[in-house]
Amino acid sequence: MFDWLIVGAGFAGSVLAERLASQRGERVLVVDRRPHIAGNAYDHFNDAGLLVHRYGPHIFHTNSDAILDHLSQFTGWRPYEHRVLGEVDGMRVPIPINLDTINRLYGLDLTSDELTAWFAARAEPVERIETSEDVVVSVVGRELYEKFFQGYTRKQWGLDPSQLDKSITARVPIRTNRDDRYFTDTHQCMPDRGYTRMFERMLDHPNIAVMLNCDYRSIVDMIPHRRLIYTGPIDEFYDYRFGRLPYRSLRFVHETLDQAQALPTGTVNYPQTEDFTRISEYKHMTGQQHPQTAITREYPSATGDPYYPILRPENQALFKRYEALAMAEPNTYFVGRLATYRYYNMDQVTGQALAMFQRIDKALPRRMTLRLNHGNGAAQPASAP
Ligand code: FAD
Ligand code: UDP
Repeated sequence: MFDWLIVGAGFAGSVLAERLASQRGERVLVVDRRPHIAGNAYDHFNDAGLLVHRYGPHIFHTNSDAILDHLSQFTGWRPYEHRVLGEVDGMRVPIPINLDTINRLYGLDLTSDELTAWFAARAEPVERIETSEDVVVSVVGRELYEKFFQGYTRKQWGLDPSQLDKSITARVPIRTNRDDRYFTDTHQCMPDRGYTRMFERMLDHPNIAVMLNCDYRSIVDMIPHRRLIYTGPIDEFYDYRFGRLPYRSLRFVHETLDQAQALPTGTVNYPQTEDFTRISEYKHMTGQQHPQTAITREYPSATGDPYYPILRPENQALFKRYEALAMAEPNTYFVGRLATYRYYNMDQVTGQALAMFQRIDKALPRRMTLRLNHGNGAAQPASAP
């Protein structure tokens, strides 16, 4: 009998599996319908021996010491600050928009203070900032919004920014200084042996079994378990009872090139041209030395694996209906980006899973007793009979 059946071996499922196994001594079965662990963070060595991210570039960044410390039990890190250039009006300029972006694009020599005034002169007053259009035009005006945000967002989401929640484009700040990093978090780093290796170490515990290529529905009735943790799409769990919850998908086109480097930065965005949104080159992130290089283009798509929740009021309302069912579901816990319909980064999902573990650990009596192992002084879990 397993104490837990965990659906999904991504950050949500794997972080919880490890905690339940190591801290509560409980027996966990993790199932994933994909042929690998690590969920969307999965990376692997391709035929040429280059470390690539199967589901597009994953860059770790967090302001939380606790989350970094937690994951550091399973990996070392290499420092990496992501930088992005946008191909705009035939030039490659920094994204997020900063002082250099504007000076280069418009042939100006503004100072930061002058740029603040320059933006203010172009900003459109918006009474209530609600949409992904409002949040940009209210700061930099319509021209920059159209150049950098409108086309990219229409491509990425199949919707105009005016139809999307403000939090989506607000992920990309507007700067008046020369900082050209994509993120400003206090910790920015990559697992030094890759994400998959980190997940292997997380799941390497005698109390954890992993089944791949397995949809949980095919085994849920056959394998006895006390409780379920579900990290897949919440609408699918309920057989789309209230209708489909919209998720956006991507098609990833991976390529190996016979050159040592293809791009000046980890990613180049295409807000005005092309059918794909961006090209990323992994060697920047992984630091791998290799005579060839691997890149990925991301083509947004309405069909395919669900990757992004589409944040807009009617979708939130539909999610709330599913969430109400989920909250009443006995012995079942919903965690992660798809199950809680949140546009979460990896660190946020890790934090959500750790918080869920704390709640579980408070609410449910522990099955195990901790026994002192006099050999190395560490406390070892021992299952209660
Ligand atoms: P997932 O990783 O999606 O794991 C859920 C797992 O559940 C999947 O493996 C799925 O196969 C499995 N599953 C679902 N249903 C079933 C079922 N019925 N039976 C069995 N298994 C099932 N975050 C960052 O912090 N930095 C980045 O740079 C970044 N870049 C990203 C780029 C892209 C293109 C995408 C799509 C996401 C990116 N993210 C990034 C977000 C990151 O991928 C997620 O935050 C994280 O992977 C979510 O983990 P999760 O466990 O919630 O979900
Ligand atoms: N965005 C944009 N232009 C850009 C980069 C981002 O319009 O050059 C918008 C777009 O709507 C995108 C959102 O900002 O979906 C969030 O961007 P981010 O890079 O965080 O997306 P992710 O890495 O999660 O795909």
